[in-house]
Amino acid sequence: MSEELTHYTIKDGWFREVSDELWPGQAMTLRVNKILHVEKSKYQDVLVFESSNYGNVLVLDGVIQATERDEFAYQEMIAHLALFNHPNPKKVLVIGGGDGGVLREVVKHESVEEAVLCDIDEAVIRVSSKYLPTMAVGLNHPKSKVHVEDGFKFLAQYKNTFDVIITDSSDPEGPAESLFQKPYFELLNEALTENGVITTQAENIWLHIALIKDLKKACSEVFPVAEYAYTTIPTYPSGQIGFMVCSKDKNRKVNTPLRVLDSEKEKELFKYYNAEIHKASFVLPTWANGILNSE
Ligand code: SAM
Repeated sequence: MSEELTHYTIKDGWFREVSDELWPGQAMTLRVNKILHVEKSKYQDVLVFESSNYGNVLVLDGVIQATERDEFAYQEMIAHLALFNHPNPKKVLVIGGGDGGVLREVVKHESVEEAVLCDIDEAVIRVSSKYLPTMAVGLNHPKSKVHVEDGFKFLAQYKNTFDVIITDSSDPEGPAESLFQKPYFELLNEALTENGVITTQAENIWLHIALIKDLKKACSEVFPVAEYAYTTIPTYPSGQIGFMVCSKDKNRKVNTPLRVLDSEKEKELFKYYNAEIHKASFVLPTWANGILNSE
């Protein structure tokens, strides 16, 4: 008989997301129906479980990365805030994103000819293909090319190549640390074509406002336009996560989509993104705006 799987984050049928460094004094919990996969990969602790209300859940180093129920709120926004800020995106790079959800969104744009993904961990790609098929569909799209390598090193090989680059990374503790620092933004800038656009995972205002301020400063030193936008999503810490949206074009108003689909087409393609929420996602509460947008 096969042994029942266990994991340090799961007790009495509940998963608990504890991090004294990233969200002290609070924890998201989800009820577990069944543990599906447990592994220590070369880079991180990998867990997949079936939850009672959020479908299958991918967890890396004890931190929720995606649930089947709400992942679209993140994948659509991190992808389309950048893609609709480019007039004609043809070549797109995703750093991280090994679950495939961002690629699934990228290839919805007819102009895209090539969608390249580079995740550091083959285990994420492998387990997502097995347990998160509605996200992993992006990995197998004919326009997609998947590489397994450190995103920082991969990016350093390219100059003037990608119209849009999306960094769908895990939190800055662990293998993604280098993806939150200025040298990485400089590489992004060099790898972009003229007037290229990036989005990058930029954390939660309630928990990480100081980190976001530093991130915005680092991005602004590299890009002429760098703004913070966000999405709401129940299973990320405190229910909200943001993105830095940066453009090489100094005249770009990143809060206004350059291309707008008719509303029927929008509904057919997206569950969260639309042209109105694109604009609204840059509007911040007064206190956060005061901190992020003051000198
Ligand atoms: N949306 C998620 C979140 O914010 O919680 C992130 C999901 S995605 C699965 C994060 C991915 O980034 C993981 O698959 C991880 O392997 C990858 N990653 C972390 N550091 C990386 C690096 N240096 N280069 C490339 N990929 C990296």
